[in-house]
Amino acid sequence: MKETLTKIAREFGTPAFVYFFDRIAAQVAALRQAFDGLWGVSYAMKCNPNLALVERMKSIVDTLDISSGGELAKAQKVGWPGDRISFTGPAKTHAELQAAADHGAEVVLESLAEARQLNALARAKGRTLDVLIRIAPAQIPKGFGSHMTGKAAQFGIDEEVMDQAIPLVKELPNLRLCGFHCYSGTQCLKPDAVAENYVIFIDIFRRACVAHNIVPRKLIFGSGLGIPYHEGDQPIALAQVAERIVPAVRDFKADARFGQARLLLETGRFLVGEAGVYLTRVLRRKDSRGARIGVVDGGMHHQLAASGHLGMVIHKPYRMFKVCSDRPDGAEQTYDLYGCLCTSIDHLGKGIKFPGLEESDVIGIHCSGAYGVTSSPVNFISHPLPREFMVATKNGAEVIEDVTE
Ligand SMILES: *Cc1c(COP(=O)(O)O)cnc(C)c1O
Repeated sequence: MKETLTKIAREFGTPAFVYFFDRIAAQVAALRQAFDGLWGVSYAMKCNPNLALVERMKSIVDTLDISSGGELAKAQKVGWPGDRISFTGPAKTHAELQAAADHGAEVVLESLAEARQLNALARAKGRTLDVLIRIAPAQIPKGFGSHMTGKAAQFGIDEEVMDQAIPLVKELPNLRLCGFHCYSGTQCLKPDAVAENYVIFIDIFRRACVAHNIVPRKLIFGSGLGIPYHEGDQPIALAQVAERIVPAVRDFKADARFGQARLLLETGRFLVGEAGVYLTRVLRRKDSRGARIGVVDGGMHHQLAASGHLGMVIHKPYRMFKVCSDRPDGAEQTYDLYGCLCTSIDHLGKGIKFPGLEESDVIGIHCSGAYGVTSSPVNFISHPLPREFMVATKNGAEVIEDVTE
């Protein structure tokens, strides 16, 4: 990996994002295998909507989750068929619902008002549309780094009122209720908590379907799976999640009502996060009041999350390493690393260890495959966009492709 990154940095320059596709494919395979194929895999494209990547995902995951009309347009452009797309989002516009209906994408309803709006739209077209309902669970296990339920929130129909809402959706003549969706939170590295979260979902799906006599065709589980961003983080042990949850899923599937339901694990960062590296070069070194400072050619305008400003409460640096240098490594020292923006909030971390760090050295920031360039304020301070590269093995040889948009 280091040689490939060095080659990219030398030939094409920095800053750049590099995505290793084989690593993504391996992660998808690991997910399928860990759960004995009980779950299919859905890719949440908001985490990385790079066109070349979204196109390649078609051959390794089952479905694609989009959350805007813009993502739908991108998915269509690279050939994702509507029947493999689900559309989530708490405030979809009329135009977005229309576009989804036209392409045959399955809408995940997040409110009754949205259900009525989509029903009217379907009636006007003389069609009946398949829909899912997103239920917002009342509980979430401890251990989720980021969560969007168990409190007042804009997402989905609250579990507490689902029994009033479901019959109202069911009676809309131009919608066909095919199943349910739950997504409570993400970035969890604790197998027990992830498994417990799925138990909560299964319980909600079971109660909703039994109470309202629904035989679901599809049930979507927001995966919650996290990745090891920081020094000392351990990757989540899928085998431990499986040990706790597979018997419960088998039991659920043994019930005739759920035997035919397609179960999907919906995830973004877990599939692509660890497969990406952000390459950035040290432009300046400064010793300041006892600290060794490095200032790089990248920063929060490309990698907002690494600067701690994307939902992180306490800023811990991402794992990073020296990719290449014109000089031999020196003694290990600690450095404070800053991005190139003219603002004090553009920091990548303090006290980071490198075997010496000098101007022109290239640094690689791990876990940059998800929530990178499109989750960052790229226009802030008018620097150019970073380049993006895809590395994949073709016929036994490594191929580097420029996939910059
Ligand atoms: C953001 C989001 C995801 C993906 O979350 P990750 O943390 O990338 O796995 C999946 N589903 C929904 C509904 C989301 O909003």
